[in-house]
Amino acid sequence: MALTPLASALTQLLDTVPEPPPIENCAVGSAAGRVLSEVVNAELDVPPVDNSAMDGYAVRASDLPGKLTVSQRIPAGKPASPLEPGTAARIFTGATIPAGADTVVMQEDAIFSEGEVSILGCVTPGLHIRPRGADLRSGEQLFDQGRVLRPEDLGLLAAVGRDRVSVYRPLRVAVLSTGDELVEAGGGALQPWQIYNSNRVQLAAQLQALGMRVVDLGNAPDQPEKIGEALERGAEIADCIVTTGGVSVGEEDHVRDQIVARGELTLWRLAIKPGKPLAFGQVRGTPIFGLPGNPVSAWVTFALVVKPWLLRAQGALVPPSLAVPACAHFQVEKPGSRCEYLRVSLRSEGNGLVAELAGSQSSGVLSSVTRAQGLAVIPRGTTLNHGDAVSVLLIADLLSPWSA
Ligand code: AMP
Ligand code: MG
Repeated sequence: MALTPLASALTQLLDTVPEPPPIENCAVGSAAGRVLSEVVNAELDVPPVDNSAMDGYAVRASDLPGKLTVSQRIPAGKPASPLEPGTAARIFTGATIPAGADTVVMQEDAIFSEGEVSILGCVTPGLHIRPRGADLRSGEQLFDQGRVLRPEDLGLLAAVGRDRVSVYRPLRVAVLSTGDELVEAGGGALQPWQIYNSNRVQLAAQLQALGMRVVDLGNAPDQPEKIGEALERGAEIADCIVTTGGVSVGEEDHVRDQIVARGELTLWRLAIKPGKPLAFGQVRGTPIFGLPGNPVSAWVTFALVVKPWLLRAQGALVPPSLAVPACAHFQVEKPGSRCEYLRVSLRSEGNGLVAELAGSQSSGVLSSVTRAQGLAVIPRGTTLNHGDAVSVLLIADLLSPWSA
């Protein structure tokens, strides 16, 4: 198979997304990051009545300028009586505007003395009143199905009186690492031929950040049978399987063959760097992503390929991550044959951003990912001079459930 450019791979993959998982009912208070399975409409006006935007006096604009008797006091959370003509009501922020009043005069523009308030200027009716329904009208749509709920969304749901919402059950994603050389951190000292397993925790955390459930399949040795059995186990208990390692062309790389033997391989090898040997297919009908073993390749391919697919499979409709322009403080001298994602740190300078390489760009060097804020996108066949504009994907976006 030839190398597939990322955009066409995504188009192809997103076509295979299955039906979203079953629906659950969830308390609004714990629904941040969950995906709505219903359209939510406002069932009341917000605010529900006209209320004051200021501490001051509620009046009829036509009574001004003048000296008015203060006929009532209306704090927030207390009922208001109709305003008698020719009088003013002492009023506070958030309090109900009394019937008959059409304006609030700020207390700074009024002089109170012995039960009367003097207001010297004229005012435009409506001033400092937050009208009923100014935020939302009853019947108006708040959120579409597929919305990934943000903390402020929960506030808006509460504002219209909702305490529960329908959401999709979190996807169960099985994670399997492969490699004879891998030892779990905490599992004892390393032999000279061993390294600690960094992919499993890293991928599990990325999945958790998306609100998904991790099914830990552990680590499989580089043996076809063992890998195949683990994949079958994953296929039984999870909605999707993500593996790392063993998808290249080496003699010890068995994941791809096991996908072919127990299901189907539909995509292999992307025109991206790092991350070329990514594989996608299904095992016993369960979708599977075979990520490369190098920690940075696994991290990048998860963020760029697996995450958009998983979010879609979770029922989410989210915008793609936005690339921001930055001034490159580095060079790319040789045009590459694949689109390259360079780890960069970012800082503000003048009105824009400056991007600097965050260290080694080797696909085995995870420390430069931890120092980076962005991935500079270098399209295939391009070079870059110091000072050129470059598009940067923000890592915070790449890891968040609110963009794909
Ligand atoms: P592979 O894709 O299996 O050929 O692995 C490529 C490189 O990534 C090798 O140097 C592996 O030792 C390393 N690697 C594979 N899996 C992991 C893992 N889970 N954690 C850390 N390094 C890994
Ligand atoms: Mg390996």
